[in-house]
Amino acid sequence: APAPAMAEAAMAARVPPDEDGDECLPQYRHLLSPDLLAGQVAFITGGGSGIGFRIAEIFMRHGCRTVIASRNLQRVSEASKKLVAATGQQCLPLSIDVRQPQTIAAAVDEALKEFKRIDILINGAAGNFLCPASALSFNAFKTVIDIDTLGTFNTSKVIFEKYFRDHGGVIVNITATLSYRGQALQVHAGAAKAAIDAMTRHLAVEWGPNNIRVNSLAPGPISGTEGFRRLGGKFAEKSDQFSLIPLQRAGNKTEIAHSALYLASPLSSYVTGTTLVVDGGSWLTSPNSFSALLGIASSSAK
Ligand code: NAP
Repeated sequence: APAPAMAEAAMAARVPPDEDGDECLPQYRHLLSPDLLAGQVAFITGGGSGIGFRIAEIFMRHGCRTVIASRNLQRVSEASKKLVAATGQQCLPLSIDVRQPQTIAAAVDEALKEFKRIDILINGAAGNFLCPASALSFNAFKTVIDIDTLGTFNTSKVIFEKYFRDHGGVIVNITATLSYRGQALQVHAGAAKAAIDAMTRHLAVEWGPNNIRVNSLAPGPISGTEGFRRLGGKFAEKSDQFSLIPLQRAGNKTEIAHSALYLASPLSSYVTGTTLVVDGGSWLTSPNSFSALLGIASSSAK
């Protein structure tokens, strides 16, 4: 067996580097052809932060132009400047609320005016927080369903009607593994994401003849994200959380972006209607103790 230091170095070499905040990678080593997405355009909801930001960066580093869209125009505008500076590709920041189809329609019109095409849709916009069902207001549950589930449908339908129906395309829905084992304190997000995984299969069937592929990507715990900042630190302090994950660590945003790149590119040309779980095997083994998680939730709220 290799010495621990050697094993660590070997693993470090296999795990692509990431930056914790919403910053571009200081350097990037291509594992795939830099022109994998050349000439293409990706519309990325939630592209101004976290996982969506890194997906935008990695796509741009593979020749793609991007539209990054979320509610906060200042956030996507600042993100766009960083992305353009790091990659030399074009990035159009737009304001949308995925709960309001007319804002999506206006943004898609603007994107088509600018780039004349959309090849890829990443549905990444979402909201989440930890809360036991008993303390969850009716409105809080509805809000998460509105943003995650209806938002994914709204955006997919607008882009279908305005472009994909006639030209084909690829949709990647960012979901989660929360519902697989009924994760405690997550009934709202788990239900919302499970509905999206169902939508992935329905739309893959209905839109396959239009040359549209639809897949879900379900991340596990991912470092350098808002969710992880709220939870991950506490998990790491409180317990041996990561040693229970088969790959013994959290994932990073670059790894999620690489999986999104696979699903968005012709590498997965015959893949549709599936969910790609990218979680280091986490959902199979991670604890799901209601009372332990309640303790973490109340201490992280402070
Ligand atoms: P994040 O940075 O908070 O990303 C969420 C994005 O959604 C933000 O950019 C936000 O921008 C946007 N958004 C929220 N409500 C919106 C609305 N109504 N309309 C348009 N955009 C809206 O979080 P993240 O952790 O990177 O998560 C990205 C995706 O991965 C999410 O789908 C999440 O559920 C999923 N995921 C994350 C993890 C993890 O460990 N982090 C694990 C599993 C799944 P504005 O505030 O500007 O609108």
